[in-house]
Amino acid sequence: MKEKELQRVILSELSEEVNLRPLSGFKLNFSANPGFQKVYFSASCACETAALLSVEVSNDKTDKEILDAIPSLVERLMSQERSFRGMDCSMHGMMRRGFITGSQEEVGSPEEN
Ligand SMILES: [Zn+2]
Repeated sequence: MKEKELQRVILSELSEEVNLRPLSGFKLNFSANPGFQKVYFSASCACETAALLSVEVSNDKTDKEILDAIPSLVERLMSQERSFRGMDCSMHGMMRRGFITGSQEEVGSPEEN
């Protein structure tokens, strides 16, 4: 099953209040999982922060097996979307700065030893 087809099927299963855009032609593969096809979606907030959401499907799966797995893929995307929506916009702003500076691990405990 092609990326576009998979995105279309997933989008058709999402509930109305979930507002995700398919990202196509996105060739980054963060997971280093060569046997998997990843499909990406973006969720965006009114504050203009966007989150990258993704699900992956094994290349070994047949189209029918993929279709059987759609409900769990949809559930995974929706829970990613919910956690993005669950943050307030000051968190979104911090996420954006984090993406730019690449430093999100600064919140350790300063009083070790
Ligand atoms: Zn926001």
